[in-house]
Amino acid sequence: MKKYVSLVFCFLGLIGVFLGGCKNKSETRQQAGETEDTRFDTFKNNLVLKFWRIHPEWASSVGYHRYDNILTIPDNKYRRGLVRSYKSYLKELEAFAQHKLSENNQTDFYMLQNFLAAGIWQVDEFKDYKWNPAIYNIGPVVADMVNGRYDSLDNRLRTLSQRIAYSTAYYEAAIDNVKNPTVEHTQLAILQNKGALSVLGSALVDSVQASHLNPAEKNLLNQRIETTRLAIDNYIRHLQENILPAIKKGKTRSFRIGQSQYTQKFNFENESGYTANEIYQRANLEKHKIHRAMLALTKQLWPKYFPKQAMPAGLPAVKQMINRLSQQHVPRDSFITAIRQQIPALEKFVNTRHLLTQDPTQPLIVRATPLYMQGVAGASVSAPGPYEKNAATYYNVTPLTHYTPAQAESYLREYNTYTLQILNIHEAIPGHYTQLVYSNKSPSVIKAILGNNAMIEGWAVYAERMMLEQGYGRNSPEMWLMWYKWNLRVTLNAILDYSVHVLNMSEEEALQLLTQEGFQEEAEAREKWKRVTISQVQLTSYFTGYTEIMNLRDELKSKAGKNFNLKNFHEKFLSYGSAPVRYIRDMMLEN
Ligand code: ZN
Ligand code: ZN
Repeated sequence: MKKYVSLVFCFLGLIGVFLGGCKNKSETRQQAGETEDTRFDTFKNNLVLKFWRIHPEWASSVGYHRYDNILTIPDNKYRRGLVRSYKSYLKELEAFAQHKLSENNQTDFYMLQNFLAAGIWQVDEFKDYKWNPAIYNIGPVVADMVNGRYDSLDNRLRTLSQRIAYSTAYYEAAIDNVKNPTVEHTQLAILQNKGALSVLGSALVDSVQASHLNPAEKNLLNQRIETTRLAIDNYIRHLQENILPAIKKGKTRSFRIGQSQYTQKFNFENESGYTANEIYQRANLEKHKIHRAMLALTKQLWPKYFPKQAMPAGLPAVKQMINRLSQQHVPRDSFITAIRQQIPALEKFVNTRHLLTQDPTQPLIVRATPLYMQGVAGASVSAPGPYEKNAATYYNVTPLTHYTPAQAESYLREYNTYTLQILNIHEAIPGHYTQLVYSNKSPSVIKAILGNNAMIEGWAVYAERMMLEQGYGRNSPEMWLMWYKWNLRVTLNAILDYSVHVLNMSEEEALQLLTQEGFQEEAEAREKWKRVTISQVQLTSYFTGYTEIMNLRDELKSKAGKNFNLKNFHEKFLSYGSAPVRYIRDMMLEN
């Protein structure tokens, strides 16, 4: 629900903010609809500007830099004001005769309604401002300003100086808010705020020195950096010395949010046609289907890779086959080169198979992940926000230079010859990057800023399967087996999230599920456990979106019969922007 700060679509899945246009495609409408739509357009465009005033950090992240000098003080007064504003926007919104709106505006209507209701719910009921100390972290906002390319270094530093002048008040409010937090979020807050300290470290002081600010400006900024570091340090110490010992002694709040909150968060975040429980049930069925398919493929491959060995019974044979195939990987020093070389091949495949029209004017730049972004995900796509559409799109790949030989080997096995291609499909073509280019051209700024994560991740997962269906990887059983392993991860993410937060699954049971039934390495499974203890619902977005897209395609296929055209399906689907799949479905079935 908090859609600010991150502009990065990670394979690990951060919340992304999408870009898009502000033009409104005029469609054939009735006279009465015309006025309702015109009024609605004005309303929503004004509302977006009000959002930026309330959420200056979110504004910065989408490339709207007017409020860069302001830092939100997350105190009670701010939260009350936010709820009041959201309630009045909801009232204004619900005064529109939604049935008179164009399809695109109806979708915007529902997305806005959902967003505002979610914001109110988050403050009044979810109350994570109390129990999640990791919400408070000035690091990402500062890093974006220091590293952004939207303005000269001098101007960015001047604005930064104004913004961090609020840092003491910011962290005082944080200390005031945090009441009986979970151990997991407290530890995360300590870790991430230590990261924030390094953002405000010697590299920043050096850039201040190298800038053209006058001596007085430099002096003031350096003082404010020092004060901010003290405020962060003070927050870390408060968490370490006061909070952690107290919550460990008393009755600690669980990180599990339970059925009622989970169900609501699922509905707000995924905006799916399914309930949380339905997705959980479906994921369980899918898991068994995938296991059967993997066993069949393993049986087929066995004589080729283990000619002298009897195949063990059941899933252990699959695990052995996956381990064997994972040995095929690129050398560590050519990891980024390998990715760079694959992009044109993917482009070409999409063109020759007529899968969708690509825009050659929007290049994707493959680069080593900048230092300040490293440590989050192996690969990610950085997209410009709706107000900086002409900025470049980057495919960030973490270089393996800082890994020990053992770490690098394990990483390269994970991203082996097969899965590296699937990763590139997911992140780049025709996954996130391609969807982004389409979304950029979609007519709604609402869909751009409130981009539905399940649709975005669902599309990238769908793209993997669709490419293989079309013969990418020459239909080899090896490629399919490794794809199933990936898809199984997506499926287990959904099962795990629900099981842990709603059904009380233990750590031991979770590790068992991931390693025995998901063929994951122990280290990967432990990372996943950590992630499920600090996030909720996000892990279900991949499976939810993917399931809904596959269903929609089946539905349209059976409706159109022989006339079904895959390219048209893709282009039409993407043309609506990053809307929830259920609304895209409504629009596609009507047309
Ligand atoms: Zn993704
Ligand atoms: Zn190796």
